[in-house]
Order: sequence, then structure tokens, then C-alpha cells
Amino acid sequence: MNTTQDGTSSPASSLEARAQDGDRLTAQLERRPLRVAVTGASGRMGQAILQEILEQPDLHVSSAVVRAGHAWAGRDLGICLGRLPLGTLVATDLAVALEETDVIIDFTHPGHLLELLPRLRGSNLGLVCGTTGLSEEVLSLLRVHAQEAPVVVAANMSLGVNVLLGLVRQAAALLGDGFDLEVLEIHHRFKKDAPSGTALALAKAGLDARGVTDAQGIVLREQGMIGARSGREEVGVGALRGGSVAGEHTVYFLGSGERLELTHRAVDRRAFAQGAVRAARWLAERAPGYYSMQDVLGLSSTGRG
Ligand code: NAD
Repeated sequence: MNTTQDGTSSPASSLEARAQDGDRLTAQLERRPLRVAVTGASGRMGQAILQEILEQPDLHVSSAVVRAGHAWAGRDLGICLGRLPLGTLVATDLAVALEETDVIIDFTHPGHLLELLPRLRGSNLGLVCGTTGLSEEVLSLLRVHAQEAPVVVAANMSLGVNVLLGLVRQAAALLGDGFDLEVLEIHHRFKKDAPSGTALALAKAGLDARGVTDAQGIVLREQGMIGARSGREEVGVGALRGGSVAGEHTVYFLGSGERLELTHRAVDRRAFAQGAVRAARWLAERAPGYYSMQDVLGLSSTGRG
């Protein structure tokens, strides 16, 4: 059996997998464009993903779906996106929209996944899920679908951040306990939560590499008498807010006579859209299973242990 990052299994036999994968693999074998449906098409991420797909000759927008009653419903997708007409009308009916599709990309809302996932039962449609804030109920529906189709779920699809996660694991393991780890993130003035989920994931990656599984190891930096560092089992996380910063994360490895800093800066949503499109292409050649962006990038085992 193939075991994915979260321990879910997928079929071992490539023949068995191919039989299940049907159209997605056919698209690759026949070298016809991969047919991608985008749900939440009018959203900020939906639009960024559609713009990205439309630039790729090997991908085809099979459907762009919005909620019933949305101003885009039934209109030409190209016009809605501020481009030339495409001859593709924006859809509202999921069942029809998914008929001629190989892979779905969903950046919407957990409530939408509760509606979408039951409809996918019995289908082998690949799914790239970038929607965040997923409840246990949604996660278990995603796992059910992953038994029949390849599914990529990631709260941050930026390629750079996912490479950074692998690099942090590697650096933490290579540098060892003599280096203290701290994470600092900066976001625009409107961001309500702190620290970001990505900052926490980076801190966790550093702790994982040191074999520390206790979530208590992540310490939010505050003012006042915060006490001395408790050593290798601690990663401090801090947050700054201001301006229009799309997202910046720095991981510091602070040694006695030197320090290493790894920084990622997101400039705009294209970073996430390009990651989603990369995941869709990757899925097209995959057996059913529950995958992460780390799997997509081949970073699942980098620097572990
Ligand atoms: P948005 O509000 O601009 O767009 C959301 C879209 O989903 C809209 O088109 C809306 O109509 C649609 N939608 C919402 N609820 C729906 C429902 N119940 N049924 C049908 N359609 C529904 O938001 P956004 O900035 O595009 O972000 C969308 C999601 O993607 C969020 O969960 C966000 O956190 C996540 N996100 C993930 C990444 C990543 O890398 N994984 C990056 C950015 C954003």
C-alpha cells in the first residue's frame, strides 16, 4: 500500500489505481487538456485561480461555478473576469458543471464543501481543497472521497511556504539543539487573527524535526517578564500587523556565534493560485488518496526525524 503523509492508504497496484482513475489519466495519456472546474469562481481566490488556468495551454476550464442568484450566473466567464469572451457560461448547477470535469479546485467556505462532497460519492473526480477552517465533519467527508479519488488539502498552497516547511525541518535537524528557533510573521493591518496558521505550522515543523510532539512547545511571545527560553523544546512565535503586507514569515535559527534566517514573502494571491494549479496537475496522475502540498512537492519526508 502507498501511505500518504497523514497515514491514509491508497491502492498499491498501479493497474488497480489506473482502472479507478479513468478520465483523469486518459487526459494525460491522450495529452488533451486537463478539465478543471473551479467552485467559488467569483471569490478572490476563485478569480485568481481561473486567471491562472486560462494562461495554461494544458488546462481547460470545464466549468466555473457560483452560488445560484449570483450576478455572474449565466454570464460569459471571460467577460466576468475582465477578459475577452470565452464562450463558457458561469454555472450554478454543480451536477451539470461536474459532468465534463477531471479535477475540481475549491477555495470557498466549509459550508460549501458539506454540499459538494456528498455529490462526489462514487465519482473519481480529483479535488484540490484550499478552503480553510475545515470542521471534523468536512475533514471526514474529504477522507471518504479520498478513498475513491486523489484529494489534496492544504491551508497554504503557496509553493514557497511549502518549500519553507521542508527547509525548516531540514535546518532544524541539521543545526541541532544548539540553535534556538523563533518565528516572526507580518501581515496587513486588516488581519484579525494572530499568529497566522502558517507561522504555527512552521513552528511545528521545527519541533517535529527535533522529535518534540508536544504542542505546548509553541510559545507565543508577549510583553513583560516572559522568562528565559526553556531550550530545544520551545519555539517562540511573534506577530506584527500593518500596511498592506500580504504575508511574510521568517524562521530564525539563533546559534551562539551565528544565525540562519529563512524568509518567505507572499506578494499577492497568485502565490496560492499557482500552487492550486500545480496540485491539480499533480493529481491528474495520482491514485486515490489524501495528500498534502508537501506530497505534491515531494517534500513529505524531507528533513524529518
Ligand atoms: P472570498 O470570500 O473572496 O470567496 C469565497 C467564494 O466562495 C465566493 O465566491 C463565495 O460566493 C463562495 N461561497 C462561500 N460560501 C459558499 C457556499 N456555502 N456555497 C457556495 N459558494 C460559497 O474568499 P477567498 O479570499 O477567495 O478565500 C476562499 C477560501 O480560500 C477561504 O477559506 C480562505 O481562507 C482560503 N484560502 C486558502 C489559501 C490556501 O493557500 N489554501 C489561500 C487563500 C485563501
